[in-house]
Amino acid sequence: MAKIMAVNAGSSSIKFQLLEMPEEKVIASGVMERIGLAEGIFTLKYNGKKEETNPVLPTHAEGVQLLLDTLLDKGIVKSLNEISGVGHRVVQGGEYFKDSTLVDGPDGTVVKKIAELADLAPLHNPAHIIGIKAFYKALPNVPEVVVFDTVFHQTMPEEAYMYATPYEWYEKYGIRKYGAHGTSHKFVSQRCAEVMGKKLEDTKIIVCHLGNGASISAVEGGKCKDTSMGLTPLEGIPMGTRSGNLDPTVVSYICEKENKTAAEVVNILNKKSGYLGMSGRSNDARDVTQGMNDGDHRCKLTFDVQAKRIVDYIASYYVYMGGCDAICFTAGMGENLKHLRLNIAKRLGVLGVKIDEKLNDTFSDERIISTPDSKIKLYIIPTNEEVMIARDTLRVANIK
Ligand code: ADP
Repeated sequence: MAKIMAVNAGSSSIKFQLLEMPEEKVIASGVMERIGLAEGIFTLKYNGKKEETNPVLPTHAEGVQLLLDTLLDKGIVKSLNEISGVGHRVVQGGEYFKDSTLVDGPDGTVVKKIAELADLAPLHNPAHIIGIKAFYKALPNVPEVVVFDTVFHQTMPEEAYMYATPYEWYEKYGIRKYGAHGTSHKFVSQRCAEVMGKKLEDTKIIVCHLGNGASISAVEGGKCKDTSMGLTPLEGIPMGTRSGNLDPTVVSYICEKENKTAAEVVNILNKKSGYLGMSGRSNDARDVTQGMNDGDHRCKLTFDVQAKRIVDYIASYYVYMGGCDAICFTAGMGENLKHLRLNIAKRLGVLGVKIDEKLNDTFSDERIISTPDSKIKLYIIPTNEEVMIARDTLRVANIK
């Protein structure tokens, strides 16, 4: 038995889950937010309890120290020696990292490489490094493993990841599709094969990870063959605040019309578009659903545009894989938004997809939502990135 800390460090937050492995049991979880501000928020869940405090957290290092002290104070661990490994989510591993990797110290080559890749994930990679260093400071002798969102997509064939731009851009700057949410796509596709009772090698699965960030992937025989996110998470389907695909000319056009720089317009495409931009209400699907139910045309249109684009990807991946056994819905909207799933499933009728509206409406966790005669099965599979991180930490650091 080993306790593994799965960590997702952002620029002002640290999300964590302490898992007992290999049982995959969550011992404690929570988040530290507003790091660097006058007053932080520390939410901790353990033993069925949820506690919230407002400590001052000047940097991530104080956050990690407080987390470890709290685990001891509450008796969640008796000694910090019980923590056998720390696994960190890292958004961008570029073409360099083809698997989760053991970190060779706070200033070693792995951290340097993650720093070099920060151009491709300027908000995320630097924050992950701060998280890695903070844990080294607090637990200097505990192995740390980095688990990349991009690794699962590294099996995409060249024809799927290359853009038809000047080839030198790829050679000089690494301009290509990298994808994201790979840890989730991997977990869900593996779990779907288990639920279907099929060998992973024999499956063709389309995973729809629909959260505030959203992406779709084609997973054949357990390997990613294509995915909707690109060089950055902006590509693909519309999301909470991201536009997804559009004609790049929109950028230069708006630059001229509104006297903005390209970076400013791209920022709007990342932060003020998608659900938020289209509905004019919110990036949260619950608010947009409320608007739709109240008869707001733009709210309904927001869901229709997204459903149409999702189906465009599903149809394309169906053809690319030469068929499909199952379509899985996961993440906040995929798991909870029944009207969106219904909207998508109805558009897929031409492929022989039949949704069971009762099963779609019933609230429970993992389940099938298609009828027995549906040609492609539809599943809801709640994602669990933390478990994947903990599994990889055990494997890569060779923890028994
Ligand atoms: P991320 O991890 O990318 O921030 P999540 O996977 O948490 O995103 O998904 C957030 C989205 O899921 C939001 O749009 C939210 O409205 C939606 N969501 C979460 N819970 C529910 C629910 N119970 N009913 C409807 N939508 C929900």
